[in-house]
Amino acid sequence: MAHVPSEKHTPLILSVDGVTKSFDGFKAINDLNFYLEEGELRTVIGPNGAGKSTFMDLITARTKPDSGRIRYHQDDGSDVDLTRVREHQVSQLGIGRKFQNPTIYKSHTVYDNLQLSLSGKRGLLSSLFYKETKENRDKIYDVLETIRLSEFADRLAGSLSHGQKQWLEIGMLLAQDPKIMLVDEPAAGMSDEETDRTGELLLSLEGKHSLIVIEHDMEFVRQIARRVTVLHQGHVLKEGSFDFVRSDPEVIEVYLGRQTRNH
Ligand code: ADP
Ligand code: MG
Repeated sequence: MAHVPSEKHTPLILSVDGVTKSFDGFKAINDLNFYLEEGELRTVIGPNGAGKSTFMDLITARTKPDSGRIRYHQDDGSDVDLTRVREHQVSQLGIGRKFQNPTIYKSHTVYDNLQLSLSGKRGLLSSLFYKETKENRDKIYDVLETIRLSEFADRLAGSLSHGQKQWLEIGMLLAQDPKIMLVDEPAAGMSDEETDRTGELLLSLEGKHSLIVIEHDMEFVRQIARRVTVLHQGHVLKEGSFDFVRSDPEVIEVYLGRQTRNH
């Protein structure tokens, strides 16, 4: 509980205290404590079955824990216990999640995908009242630049490369101005060049958003690593710099030692 995550005194945006979640008696998440600072880019690694996706399910209220608290610290100083809100409210609170498979609208243009996302920001109803204001257009162009798809604005989303589709989906999250972004294996299936660009993109979001990135590819983790959390059996095994966790005997034993090249 009395966890001081770093020497800097950046305020926390997310506190996970003593969270446990069982499935049929099996503790997928086991007394998990996790603290994310505002503007931080955190990478979470760990073997298959460590509980990484369940962790994101818990933060987004897709899954309810058996015990523990997940507090989202808001700008106005108030806390929201994310274990007590409904899943659809989480995105409205400013917590966005990117799943592994992009959920873009393939027969719409890149621009329209971003516009749909922007218009849906405050829930489905608001999209009926969406106005094509200069402010909204500027926002979309901003996002297009960030995800480096400005030249593809009029292309159908379905015609983009695998990597570009992933960036578009990150852009769709960005259009909603999330405070916290949860990104699950963004580099999966990407070419080396796309992976590299994805790393640059995530690094460019640091400070403006707070990010939790789950990733397997250790080269990619090295590229984006700030503080790295190693999850094992639903619990934080180790936390620290890339070099610290990579050379830790326990981490090597449970994770890196048995990692396959093609993961
Ligand atoms: P990771 O993403 O790190 O690979 P998961 O969070 O997907 O791990 O899963 C953690 C453990 O919880 C696994 O053993 C998995 O089989 C189990 N699990 C996850 N979700 C469910 C579920 N809905 N029902 C039963 N078991 C689950
Ligand atoms: Mg997973």
